[in-house]
Amino acid sequence: MTTPNIIIANWKMNLTERTATELLTSIAGIPQHVRDSLRMSIAPSACFVPLVRQMVPWITICAQDVSAFDYGAYTGDISAQMMASMGVTMSLIGHSERRYIYHENNAAIHDKLRHCARHNITPIVCVGETLEERQAGDVKSVILRQIDVLEKYSNPFMIAYEPVWAIGTGETATPDMVDRVHTFIQKSVGPDVPILYGGSVKADTIDSILRIPTVHGALVGGASLKSDEFIELVSKVAGYLDKTT
Ligand code: PEP
Repeated sequence: MTTPNIIIANWKMNLTERTATELLTSIAGIPQHVRDSLRMSIAPSACFVPLVRQMVPWITICAQDVSAFDYGAYTGDISAQMMASMGVTMSLIGHSERRYIYHENNAAIHDKLRHCARHNITPIVCVGETLEERQAGDVKSVILRQIDVLEKYSNPFMIAYEPVWAIGTGETATPDMVDRVHTFIQKSVGPDVPILYGGSVKADTIDSILRIPTVHGALVGGASLKSDEFIELVSKVAGYLDKTT
C-alpha cells in the first residue's frame, strides 16, 4: 500500500452556513479526474454534515470527534451512532486540540474507539508530540503511549501523525522527521495501516510531503478553508499521483 492519495480536510470550528456553502460550491467543481484519483474526505462541524452530504455526495464525511458515551444525558455530545445515521463513515479521534484543550485521555479515546467500531466508523487516531517532548527526546515514548489504545483494536483504522508544534503554526516537520516517526508508527501498528501527516500542510508544501515514502496522505486544517488553496492542493496531489503511479 503505497499510494499517498488520502486527503482529509479538517474544518475545525470554522465557517458559517453561508461560507461553508461557498466553499462547498468551489469543491463541487473539482474535476472528475482529480476526484477519481483521491480518497477525499471533509471533517466539518456536525451541524454542516447534511450540507456537505447534499452538496458533495461523492466526498466521504469524517466527524471531528465522537462522544465517549453511547447515548443519553450527555448534553452537547454527539454519538458515533448519530454520526453514522447521518452518513458519516470516518472520525478523527484524539486530535491534539481535544487532548490538550479538553484534557482528553487514553481512557476516553479507548471508549470512543469502541463506539466507532460498533457503528462502522473508521477512526483516524491523531498522535504527535509537543515541542517540549521533542526537545526532551521523548517522541517515540509519547507516540507509543498514544497508540497503546489501539493494541486490541481489530477494525480498520488510520493514524494521523501531527506534531503539536506544527499544527496551525506554519511550521512543518522536515521530511526526515516525518519519515522517522512514520516508520516507527508503521512498525508498531502493522504494514496495512494508512498513516497521514498533518501540520500546516499547504498547496506549496504538499508535494514534498507526498514524496516521503512512508506518507499515505495528509490531514489539512487551515489550508482546507480557503477554496483556491484547497483546490490547488488537491490538484497537486492528483498531478503527483499521475506522475508516480
Ligand atoms: C489539524 O488540525 O489537523 C491540522 C493539520 O491543522 P493545520 O493544517 O492548520 O496545521
